Amino acid sequence: MKRNKQQLRNILNQLDGKSYKAYQDIKGQFEFDHFTVIVDHVQGDPFAKPSRIRVRVSQRIAQFPGDTFQNRSREIGLRDFLARCFYQAAKRHTRGNRGTGQSGSIRMEKPGQEILERSSVIINNDFVEGRFVMGLPAFGRRIAGQHAIAMFFNELPAIVTHSLIYKNLNQNTLYKHIETCEDADALREKLEEQQIVSFIADGSILPRASGVDPRPLTGGNVVPFQSPDSYRLEVELPNKGKITGMGIPQGITLVVGGGYHGKSTLLKAIENGVYNHIPGDGREFVVTNPGAVKIRAMDGRNIEKVDISPFINNLPFEEDTTAFSTENASGSTSQAANIIEALEIGAALLLIDEDTSATNFMIRDHRMQELVSKDKEPITPFIDKARQLFEEFKVSTILVIGGSGDYFSVADNVIGMKDYLPVDMSHAAHDIAEKYKTERKPEGGESFGTVTSRSPVKESLDPSRGRKAVKIAAKGLHSISFGTYTIDISDLEQMVDMGQTKAIADAIYYSTRFMNENRTLNEIAEKVLMDIHEKGFDILDRIPSGEYVAFRKFELAGAINRLRSIRMKQK
Ligand code: ADP
Ligand code: MG
Repeated sequence: MKRNKQQLRNILNQLDGKSYKAYQDIKGQFEFDHFTVIVDHVQGDPFAKPSRIRVRVSQRIAQFPGDTFQNRSREIGLRDFLARCFYQAAKRHTRGNRGTGQSGSIRMEKPGQEILERSSVIINNDFVEGRFVMGLPAFGRRIAGQHAIAMFFNELPAIVTHSLIYKNLNQNTLYKHIETCEDADALREKLEEQQIVSFIADGSILPRASGVDPRPLTGGNVVPFQSPDSYRLEVELPNKGKITGMGIPQGITLVVGGGYHGKSTLLKAIENGVYNHIPGDGREFVVTNPGAVKIRAMDGRNIEKVDISPFINNLPFEEDTTAFSTENASGSTSQAANIIEALEIGAALLLIDEDTSATNFMIRDHRMQELVSKDKEPITPFIDKARQLFEEFKVSTILVIGGSGDYFSVADNVIGMKDYLPVDMSHAAHDIAEKYKTERKPEGGESFGTVTSRSPVKESLDPSRGRKAVKIAAKGLHSISFGTYTIDISDLEQMVDMGQTKAIADAIYYSTRFMNENRTLNEIAEKVLMDIHEKGFDILDRIPSGEYVAFRKFELAGAINRLRSIRMKQK
């Protein structure tokens, strides 16, 4: 049922002073002069999650030129840009507190440093749509009708005017945003043909303001990135034209150097290069193979029937490592499982930092080999597997390792970080490896071994809690509550946006429809992403939501792997 804005005003006048429940009357669609308001969901009380509302502006009025969303890169860039405009406009044009609980708020989630597909803004040839939440105002449980009128008739039109209508936006910043997004995508597409796994443009700013602030570090001591000549490549981007930077070749690359010289900072930037970044971030042209997965140790995690035998064998009490399960992994078993799980999902590049690795998983030196013989040590360290991984599976590795020169023998490239700048140390490292032979014996055997895929058992994912058949929520960036379980995903370090956590939380439930005896976790994750791609984020919830942000299959599978009730069948 379509009503006009006068009818909305009348209803709100009538609702003034009534009990909060009566707000349900405004569910539905209302025509304003320049846009349509769609009230999808009305909160139950002023403290509940705020109401979900959309505004739709016809392209006759919004008038976004075709070239601002003509391809997928630009469309995602534009939607991301408009979400930022809406967020800002909502902050500027709402009065905020108008009574009890959430009363008075109009909000869209705040985007961070990444340009990502967001369900909060949708655009096509017919309209642009913004999705947000609104705290319908009340005093106690009595509807504050006049405040609601001010929100719908003064604040909302101001927000729309300043965020969803092309002529009112700063067109230079708008184009810069979408062109940056398009260039980053184009650059990522070029990695394969250049046979590199990551590109870091000259002049990039890698360090962040702080451990909890992902904005760029500023001030006189920031050292902009400069590639060593031997790794420098030139690439041509569709908008920006020619740029130069460091290409990290496929294969095994070590990042070495003294402590505090910027090794981890470089790796972090590479990790985040699976996403595009906003202009001014400093990492606009730091892009990485989309199959890059950060691997770390996370003792205490649960593991379900993962074949970790390529790395771990002969555990005490003859525990089976071809289908290894535990409620409480050790550092090394967790790191082994993290690698195998990433390979199951098709990882192309592993990113490992000594800071977050289990030492015994990374290295076993000659002296230790002498003291503890191979048949007494369950772990085959990564150093003996990295080469096989590349030769047999075409999976590259970038490894930050300041602490072990044994790795020189297996590395294709050695990049040293010195005073925050990379130096080509490949020759020096290989010369040293020749001169000082390590007497350690390779322990990796003939081949890497098999990567066994697994099928999740549908019945082991129960989203119910109490009387609720489905109770799922994201709790911050790193935690999902699924039914009666809490999934800790804090070791999935490439999660960057809380909207991703929300989307993954609901996507876990959505994925259960694809689960059967035969489908592997990878196939299921791919199906979920394909459905989102084809039908949009709305498949994840009954009510249209503006809170979803695009995620990768690695993180979706990673969350399913960490659900403590999960059961798997091996193929
Ligand atoms: P490492 O891993 O080599 O020990 P980090 O990458 O942790 O070193 O960096 C150490 C510190 O230096 C961090 O506080 C980081 O923010 C800062 N830093 C890193 N790169 C730069 C840079 N290019 N310019 C200025 N400061 C930097
Ligand atoms: Mg470090």
